[in-house]
Amino acid sequence: MEAILAAGIGLMLGSFLSVLIGRWPHWRGAAAGRSHCPNCMHVLAWYDLVPLASWVWLRGKCRYCGGPISTLYPVLELTTAAVLATAVIVSGVATMWSLLGLVVLFGLVGLFFFDLVHHMLPDAIVYPLALLVVARIAYYRPDQLVNALATGVLLSSLLALLFFYSRGRWLGFGDVKLAFVIGALFGYPMAVGVTLAAIWGGALAGVGLMVFRRATMQTALPFGSFWTAAAIATLLAPSWIAYLSGLLTPAF
Ligand SMILES: [Zn+2]
Repeated sequence: MEAILAAGIGLMLGSFLSVLIGRWPHWRGAAAGRSHCPNCMHVLAWYDLVPLASWVWLRGKCRYCGGPISTLYPVLELTTAAVLATAVIVSGVATMWSLLGLVVLFGLVGLFFFDLVHHMLPDAIVYPLALLVVARIAYYRPDQLVNALATGVLLSSLLALLFFYSRGRWLGFGDVKLAFVIGALFGYPMAVGVTLAAIWGGALAGVGLMVFRRATMQTALPFGSFWTAAAIATLLAPSWIAYLSGLLTPAF
């Protein structure tokens, strides 16, 4: 029951996120205005903006001009819903710790899509997320606070060195700030594992794209997306580990 509720809230939060991503970087001017079709500028009615349902009903086309609506919207809404529902199934919402964990997950999903679409990690998400992660550990796991802060600062310093050494060619400064979030969220040694998983994921994706000639050595892959994806997968690990072991267990 809670999982269904979480999925519903996830759809709405994902829809909100897709508006932020779609209107970037004109948040201030556009946030006040009504949503409109970017193609024909027709103002959209509430029934054009129901998460997922509107997109499916209209088959991905604008009601007024027939122009295409980006698949980003339903994908983003579904992803947010799936992540939040899975998290609720895994850890429930019994404690403040797990409720705040849902907020952290939502922030990570936001960063994943921002880096994927715009190749940047907005401070408006990274800073509050860093604050939340540190406050959550300070209050509920004070014994882990030193580890969390030290890992965050060290990981961030390491990436800052790489950033300045490569003059921003290997990674963006947003990754330096994200490093603090990942370091503080997982602490040592788990943060190292999450980072290595992201590097491997990025390398495999890069090779895959080159094999299919969609990319060259010069193509910049959004490392922040791989990093946040690895973080989300790790936070949800109990669920997919249980699923995989279910698959491997003989049915008889
Ligand atoms: Zn239109």
